[in-house]
Amino acid sequence: MIDIYKEQNGYKNKIKELISQRFAESPPLAHVHSFGCQQNVSDSEKLKGLLAEMGYGFTDDQNEADLIIYNTCAVRENAETKVFGNIGELKHLKDKKPELIIGICGCMAQQEHIAEKIKKTYRQVDLVFGTFVLHSLPGMLYNALNNQRVFNLSQSSTEILEGVEKIRDSKIKAYVPIMNGCNNFCTYCIVPYVRGREISRKPEEIISEVKKLVSQGYKEIMLLGQNVNSYSYGFSELLREINSIDGDFIIRFMSSHPKDATPQLIDTILECNKVCKHLHLPIQAGSNRILKEMNRRYTVEDYLNIVNYARSKKPGFSFSSDIIVGFPGESYDEFLNTVDLIKKVRYDSLYTYVYSKRSGTKAAELPDNISDVQKGKWLRELLLIQREISVENFSRFIGKTITVLVDGEGKDDSSILTGRSNENIIVEFVGTPDLIGRFVKVRIIKAMNWAMLGEIV
Ligand code: SAM
Ligand code: SF4
Repeated sequence: MIDIYKEQNGYKNKIKELISQRFAESPPLAHVHSFGCQQNVSDSEKLKGLLAEMGYGFTDDQNEADLIIYNTCAVRENAETKVFGNIGELKHLKDKKPELIIGICGCMAQQEHIAEKIKKTYRQVDLVFGTFVLHSLPGMLYNALNNQRVFNLSQSSTEILEGVEKIRDSKIKAYVPIMNGCNNFCTYCIVPYVRGREISRKPEEIISEVKKLVSQGYKEIMLLGQNVNSYSYGFSELLREINSIDGDFIIRFMSSHPKDATPQLIDTILECNKVCKHLHLPIQAGSNRILKEMNRRYTVEDYLNIVNYARSKKPGFSFSSDIIVGFPGESYDEFLNTVDLIKKVRYDSLYTYVYSKRSGTKAAELPDNISDVQKGKWLRELLLIQREISVENFSRFIGKTITVLVDGEGKDDSSILTGRSNENIIVEFVGTPDLIGRFVKVRIIKAMNWAMLGEIV
């Protein structure tokens, strides 16, 4: 890895030189757009860090960019369709500005059939690279700037790129990946194929990153991984170490896999004052047969045991989850098991998806007799029930004063501020922009199905 860094540093210098010749007036602008999950956004922050080191500035407007990078997602088909639509539109930009460099990276780009399609059909794209070679951006970009089309789906990296000063999207909340990849091979999921096996970052690297973020004034540290509780140096130990760092900040993490969610993890969350009392614990389905078909390696009963343990220790302990509706072969009765389960757990919020067939996964081979229209109906049925549960759950806070980390202004009304409670529930209230980035005390006056309304006390 050291050699790769050396080699890439050489390319960084070459690009700096090239930029000073081609862009003498003002630095070139890069537009980096993330289409995926928090991990994907975090990778983009690293890419932007590398680009800044090479002399690039940044723009939100792709029309004025000299370099466009789309960091893509492959988890569901509609994510891929959206990216292809966007790449198609870039043709006009490239026609107007032939020196524009267009790069496609991330989980979708890591798949060979996608890279082939881009190579053949989307000639405007100069650079395609997967999730394993972020550190090689300088070399790849140098070749693209010298009119070579670059396709790099190499899976050679066995270490995580460290030492890049990320350019972060938020000044309040920071994503800190603690691991890459996934070993679980849930039968519906493409992630293990496009992100490889789990590799954990060294605790000392994570701790020093968090210390720096806290000293820069970040108020929320979000630890990221496909399955954070299989962090190989011990996740509970890591939480405790981060919790002991001095400063006024909170800690969140996602996602946790139910098969590795132990009473010890719950105890750690409850004992660490900075760790939020909320667990995102994706169940996916409420039928044991479907869970087995999904290769999730837990039963509904195992799952409820951990929920009940947490609630026995702290009655208001908050859970959220991911649900897939319409896994191949799922019957309506099995779907109703999922409905039963959400009524038992009473989640504060849910991320719900209709099953999407991903080629190369085991589930893609299974017969699937239910139409997408039918699956869509099931999903809406489930959402209606979850909305009722959310509003009833949020009512537990009415009249209470809670601490909210303020993260921005309302979309349509700048006199409204938005933030999140410790349980990760959205809270809206009237306030002034100077409160953004601060913890404030808010009394809750109303519960809705997606958020709570409050007033500053
Ligand atoms: N590693 C995390 C976990 O297991 O909880 C989740 C990562 S995945 C990027 C996020 C969510 O996407 C999953 O929890 C699942 O609900 C959903 N998902 C993954 N593959 C899917 C598929 N083929 N169709 C629909 N939803 C899918
Ligand atoms: Fe996908 Fe399962 Fe890994 Fe999550 S744990 S990333 S759902 S394979």
